[in-house]
Amino acid sequence: MAYAIYLLFLYPNNTIITTVTSILSNPIEYLKGVGPQKGELLRKEINLHTFRDLLDYFPFRYVDRTKVEKIISLHAQMDYVQIRGRITRLEVMGENRAKRLVATLKDETGEMSLIWFQGWQWMEKSLQLNVAYLVFGKLSLFNGYLQMSHPEMELLTGETVTGKQFLEPVYYTTEKLKARGLTAKAIGKLSKNLLEQMSPNEIQENIPKPVLEQYRLMDRSKAYFKIHLPAGEEDAQQARRRLKFEELFLAQIRICRLKIRRQQSSHGFLFNLVGDTFNTFYNEHLPFTLTGAQKRVLKEIRQDTVTGRQMNRLIQGDVGSGKTMVALLTMLLAVDNGFQACLMAPTEILSQQHYKSISELLEKMPVRVALLTGNVKGKARKQILKDVASGEIHLLIGTHALLENQVEFRNLGMAIVDEQHRFGVAQRARLWQKNVMPPHILVMTATPIPRTLAMTVYGDLDVSVIDELPPGRKPITTVHRTEFQRPQVMDFIREEIQKGRQAYIVYPLIEESETLDYENLMKGYEEVKAFFPEPRFYISMVHGRQPVAMKEANMHRFVTGDTQIMVATTVIEVGVNVPNASVMVIESTERFGLSQLHQLRGRVGRGAEQSFCILMTGNKLGHDGKERIQVMVQTNDGFLISEKDMELRGPGDIEGTRQSGLLDLKLADIVADRAILEAARASAEKILQEDPDLTMPENQPLQQFLAAQLGKSQWSKIS
Ligand code: ADP
Ligand code: MG
Repeated sequence: MAYAIYLLFLYPNNTIITTVTSILSNPIEYLKGVGPQKGELLRKEINLHTFRDLLDYFPFRYVDRTKVEKIISLHAQMDYVQIRGRITRLEVMGENRAKRLVATLKDETGEMSLIWFQGWQWMEKSLQLNVAYLVFGKLSLFNGYLQMSHPEMELLTGETVTGKQFLEPVYYTTEKLKARGLTAKAIGKLSKNLLEQMSPNEIQENIPKPVLEQYRLMDRSKAYFKIHLPAGEEDAQQARRRLKFEELFLAQIRICRLKIRRQQSSHGFLFNLVGDTFNTFYNEHLPFTLTGAQKRVLKEIRQDTVTGRQMNRLIQGDVGSGKTMVALLTMLLAVDNGFQACLMAPTEILSQQHYKSISELLEKMPVRVALLTGNVKGKARKQILKDVASGEIHLLIGTHALLENQVEFRNLGMAIVDEQHRFGVAQRARLWQKNVMPPHILVMTATPIPRTLAMTVYGDLDVSVIDELPPGRKPITTVHRTEFQRPQVMDFIREEIQKGRQAYIVYPLIEESETLDYENLMKGYEEVKAFFPEPRFYISMVHGRQPVAMKEANMHRFVTGDTQIMVATTVIEVGVNVPNASVMVIESTERFGLSQLHQLRGRVGRGAEQSFCILMTGNKLGHDGKERIQVMVQTNDGFLISEKDMELRGPGDIEGTRQSGLLDLKLADIVADRAILEAARASAEKILQEDPDLTMPENQPLQQFLAAQLGKSQWSKIS
């Protein structure tokens, strides 16, 4: 009790201070040195509207002004440096408009020139000979001599003989801003002015004290001062760490609250029964024993569906880990409880494959399965829609055609989305409306998302991982080959085909260079044809410019084994299952991202035979390309690859994350700052577990901060 009162005393009227009387809400033009015109520019160019925005405009790096170099040790690669010396000579050189002021600066090790092209008259008057200056500027090379143009000069007198030594923050600026005098330095000066005239109390703490203590975080106000005005490296480091933590912590609090709110408010169907349908199938028709991971995930789903709340679960499982069977068993569970279920896949081909394999598996079961895609038309479509509405169809498989309004279920209890990254969050939400109460949602993805990213992007979903492949799989052998070795590669394909196998040859097709890529594909196709004159070798070709029907016919011929070679673009990337294919040749490998390469490679190695992935590149390869190929050759582990992918390309490039808008982080980098993210996540979860409504006294700073933020944020859009 005493503790509570103490805290109330510590945070009196917090909201009033931050929202009403704070100078931080002042428009930016009111700041000394800004004014209406510059204010307008700051708003337009870098989105600074208020004093607070300026404080949140963090430097992206620092120039180390704690060091003073000797002239003798300077070299051209040093960029910005600081030196100390005396001016021994001042000369105006050149004619007319080319006039410039040249000062000779001398320290105990040597001398160099300082040059002014503009404002030199004024400099000539103000610079003094034979007194000490601290000089800071960018080194440049002229006629083989190092010099500095327009350096900053600080006169060293009396108490400041050593000068100010500090880290100088560098801010992002634009050409337009610079033209108006708002250079990186000028922006730094503005934030410095603001911080100096501001009471530290203006910046209220928003992280609960126990968390601050646990992670030894700098307090918020201090962090804002130190990120803009660090005395040294350590200061800057600690300030950044604190503010990164704050950024990630607040994001996690929001995500976790969303999840809690969803769990509290969304009632879900009860699947109390594991009945005849499930058991008969499981005991009599399951073609193999489930892997431990498959069983575990099924158990998690089972637990979700008896809580009375709606399930929202993501299954991550590497290519070939057997997600389809988990999906099927989950759907049978729905049927046992009197519900219908649907399975949505991103492409026609995938839907067909799912439909085919699931129908075959259920052949002897009294469960009716139907396929609905854009290609199902006329009478057949009408009949399916009718039978779905009446409940005669138990399982509906298809493309996003399932989302259309005409598709009305009698009682949809479980909606499964395969290969999630092809669908947006909005589409997922449309599934919710397919019943009076939202059905359970199961999302399956083969793009292993690094754990840290999953936390950020899918933080509102529960995550299950199938981290085990079915037994007996031989790891795919991956090799790198260059153009020189093409004949050998082709011979190798021939041998495999002669053994009865099939091969893929995949070409990149990336939008910007579509025409060129298309030509390459066609050239490749002709080349392959020329390599295999044998009458019994047939080649399928599939690419995005073909009419859908043609694409499917070609794909179908390969699936059924009528053709031995599939020349294709990445349209075959997702999900296709041809267990007899044992060779995957990827052309221009350097143009693919790691995760995409892994997906492509996953098209082979699905049968019992040893499979091969051959990564083709030109004879020359950049550093990045080499590194990616190294990774592919060394590991088959999708999670490792996606982590590496994220390191190499940055999270923004990972499919499905860009549009999510969840990665709008100012300071933190979810790859480099993974440890901070995990700590932030753990703290957020713990706090909300103990105090979901944030009513405990120690959580008041957080609660009030969030309340003040409400309305400003984009977060409400996601749910
Ligand atoms: P993905 O997770 O990539 O969707 P699939 O569900 O297509 O993988 O499964 C890949 C292959 O592995 C299929 O041929 C499937 O029948 C087989 N499979 C799935 N689970 C098992 C298992 N437990 N034991 C043996 N084979 C399995
Ligand atoms: Mg699959």
